[in-house]
Formats: sequence, C-alpha cells, structure tokens
Amino acid sequence: MSTEIAVGVNLDEANRRLAEASPAEILRWAAETYGDKLTMATAFGPEGCVILHMLAEIDPSIRVFNLDTGYQFAETLELRDRIAARYGIEVEMVRAARSVAEFDPDRCCDDRKLGPLRRAVTGYDAWISSIRADQSAHRARADAIGWDAKFGLVKVNPLLKWTKRDVWAFVVTHDVPYNPLHDRGYPSIGCWPCTRAVASGEDERAGRWAGQAKTECGLHSLDSSQL
Ligand code: SF4
Repeated sequence: MSTEIAVGVNLDEANRRLAEASPAEILRWAAETYGDKLTMATAFGPEGCVILHMLAEIDPSIRVFNLDTGYQFAETLELRDRIAARYGIEVEMVRAARSVAEFDPDRCCDDRKLGPLRRAVTGYDAWISSIRADQSAHRARADAIGWDAKFGLVKVNPLLKWTKRDVWAFVVTHDVPYNPLHDRGYPSIGCWPCTRAVASGEDERAGRWAGQAKTECGLHSLDSSQL
C-alpha cells in the first residue's frame, strides 16, 4: 500500500497542511477526517493525559483504550478513574487473551501489548499516539500523520513537536491529572517489573527495561516508513 494515500487521505498533503498546526488542531483534523474510525491508545503518561484533555473539548466520544498488561502500577490504574471523573472519558481496558501466568520478557510485550493492540485497532482507520520526537532518534523520524505499516492504519502523532517542558507546562496550566509516580523519580512509566526510578541527570526513558538491550516495547519501533 502506498504510504502517501492511506484510507483516502493524501498523507504528504496532510502533513504539509498541518506543518504549523498545534496539537489541538491536529487532533481536530483527525477527528473530522476519520470520525468514528479514529481511536487512541494511552498508557496514561503525561502526554496521553494532555491529549485526553484536548479530546474532551474536541470530541470526547472518540474511543480510547489502554493496554492493560496486568503489570501496571496501582497509581496508573487509579489515574484511569481520575480521568473518567474529570473528563467523562471512560478509557477501555484491553487485555491479553492469556492470563498473567509467568513473566517472560522476551514474549511478554508481544503477548500483552502488540497482540492486544493489533486486535484493538482492527476496523479502525487511524490511531492517536502520544510520542514526542525528542524522546528518541527513531521517534524523531516520525511525521505528524503517517502510515503505520506494522498495524495497518494511519498513526496520528499530535505532540510530535512538543518537548517534555511543553507537556508539563500544559499539565500545570490546565491542572491535568497525572500519575503521582512522576513526582517520585519515574519520568516514564510502564509495567512495574520493567520500570525503575531514574537518578537526576539520567535520560527520561533510562528506567524502562533497565539492564536489558530493549528500549521499546515494539508499539512505536520502526519496521516501516512510520513509527
Ligand atoms: S513492559 Fe515488561 S511486563 Fe510489560 S508487557 Fe512488556 S515485558 Fe511484560
């Protein structure tokens, strides 16, 4: 499939048109373009919470889901309830077909994140992610609107050009609910077996899969023209 025309939309043209657009403008474009064929995945990071704040104003009916691996922190799960209370957005919990029987870091993300994500986006034309270009070299290669060949739909990255500082400024200004673990040395939060607090000066993702070669769960890694 051409990466330029996807689900009837010329992605190069869309990116040109949205080159100077704000995250809210990108989200509004996505909501108007894809309607009920647009969905969003969130792990309740500050970026995701910022997007949920914006979606509450743009279109709170957009279906949002969380990949509930069974290993999320209690603080993360509680944040789901705080988001629902604040915005009226009930984030759907998408679970793996198999129960948490044993921890196998080689298969675990495949079973608990990639497989469930693949099922969760089936039938949708586009999904919203909250990656930022400054998080890693390969995320820096993403476009605001791109073809996600791994999952077979368009990927919308409204916060691509924002920095961590931009995100937190928005959180503070708008009193957006966030995970309290961020105040306890966890800048990036995944599953508890694979996340540790980071020391001052360490990279913000240094606490994810620390001690392993792995740096991404595979949801946003490149095996295509788009992240
Ligand atoms: S982050 Fe760790 S616990 Fe979570 S799905 Fe991946 S390997 Fe499993």
